[in-house]
Amino acid sequence: MKKFALVGNPNCGKTTLFNSLTGSTAYVGNWPGVTVEKREGIYKKGKEKVSIVDLPGIYSLSPYTNEEIISRDFILDEHPDCIINIVDATNLERNLYLSMQLLEMNVPVIIALNMMDVIEKNGDTIDISELEKRIGVPVIAISALKENNLNVLMDKAIDTSKELRNGWSSLEKTKIKPLIDILTSLYEKEGIENPLFHAIKLSENDDIEVKNFAKFVPEVNKFKEHFSDELFGNDFEALIADARYKFITENYSPVLKKAVINKGGKVVEKLSISDKIDRIVTHKYFGFLIFILILFFIFHLTFSEDLFFLGAFGVKFSNNFAGTAYEGLFWTEGGINSPGVFFANLLNSTTGLINTSIVSAMEGASVANWAVSLVGEGILGGIFAVLGFLPQILLLFLRFSILEDSGYMARVAFILDRLLRNFGVSGRAFMPMIMGFGCSVPAMINTRTLSDDKERIATIRVIPFFSCGAKLPILTAVAGGMISAFGEIGRAHV
Ligand code: GDP
Ligand code: MG
Repeated sequence: MKKFALVGNPNCGKTTLFNSLTGSTAYVGNWPGVTVEKREGIYKKGKEKVSIVDLPGIYSLSPYTNEEIISRDFILDEHPDCIINIVDATNLERNLYLSMQLLEMNVPVIIALNMMDVIEKNGDTIDISELEKRIGVPVIAISALKENNLNVLMDKAIDTSKELRNGWSSLEKTKIKPLIDILTSLYEKEGIENPLFHAIKLSENDDIEVKNFAKFVPEVNKFKEHFSDELFGNDFEALIADARYKFITENYSPVLKKAVINKGGKVVEKLSISDKIDRIVTHKYFGFLIFILILFFIFHLTFSEDLFFLGAFGVKFSNNFAGTAYEGLFWTEGGINSPGVFFANLLNSTTGLINTSIVSAMEGASVANWAVSLVGEGILGGIFAVLGFLPQILLLFLRFSILEDSGYMARVAFILDRLLRNFGVSGRAFMPMIMGFGCSVPAMINTRTLSDDKERIATIRVIPFFSCGAKLPILTAVAGGMISAFGEIGRAHV
């Protein structure tokens, strides 16, 4: 059976495509030794069956993250018959950066240009046949979400997999081309597969490459002795990254035509709704303000006992279950309960009722006092106390996941990046940190979305300092105790 690999940036639609292609045959597991999800499934068309692997989302094939190492090893060692490189058409240039590296390998590649429904909706156009001509591999416009053109994609992928492809690089015109040539022939002589890819990675001073092929490193150093670029000196990693982006801008940007509108006699690029929203939420100052406001409302709706501060106006519900176990469900004298407090009260009153009825039933049956107390205060009391945190934690996480899925968190990560860099973590570390207000455990699990172990550990270390609902009463008690103790000491000194 043929084996195809889905490769692409995070959020380009890989999993959506994978699910449409494999349907119910999908199998989800883990890559050995790491907490990165592995999805495998079978694509069926008539008699033809193809095994499909959804590789983790990556921006590059440099070995900085587990995801990158997994994807790279899979492509190099498992020899997929075809790589389906999913490119998010709405982020063409950034996505093609990975494509440039895939094309360096001697593996059949086909580009699935995804999110074409969005491009069309925005009124933008992409000249597919021109892109195909310039990039040298088949390009199929699809929408994974709307399941458009997926049959065409798979037919073309099956065709493409029948022929070997020779890798090419976007670095032909750079000054380190001679080095790449020397190294390529060294790898070739050793009979190593994908010599061009390895040669470029070694020039980039790639950790894995340097370790595995230490014997070729002197060639690189020899070349560096007589080399200096006015901009990058002999930092080949930066030089190569820059050259790839330049190549992309020069060759592939022209295939995308943004929709234009006539604005007061001037023709300007039409901004899509998402562009417009981006401009506001990532605005230098407003962005931060909006973010603080959103955060405020999330916490307010979860924890406040005076919803929208209506208490001051005497707004209350007519029904408040006065005299029952549910008294204070909707409001107290302080104000109206937020949904979070409402659900917490509802649960706690219900579990309280259950607890008292079980205890009185046991007492009625003349069960020994110690047993009643064990069940009532120990077992049920313990379980219900923990359960009591659940409504607010769930609501908090529900709201965070809405923010995350809407893409807003990615924007927040962007505006907070500068600030958090000072503490050695990227903007993305913010999400797990803020989840710490709900509960530290899922917050720490969430750090798996961070790109490197150092950042992950730094974030995990600070998460316990975010006061979750369970820590808050303890912290307040300790703080109160300390303050009054210091007060005593102070008075004693006077
Ligand atoms: P992955 O990270 O590459 O696995 O990306 P996902 O498959 O999880 O998709 C990321 C987001 O893009 C999801 O919200 C999808 O619904 C959305 N998406 C994927 N493909 C398309 C598409 O063709 N058109 C549109 N409009 N959205 C898409
Ligand atoms: Mg995915």
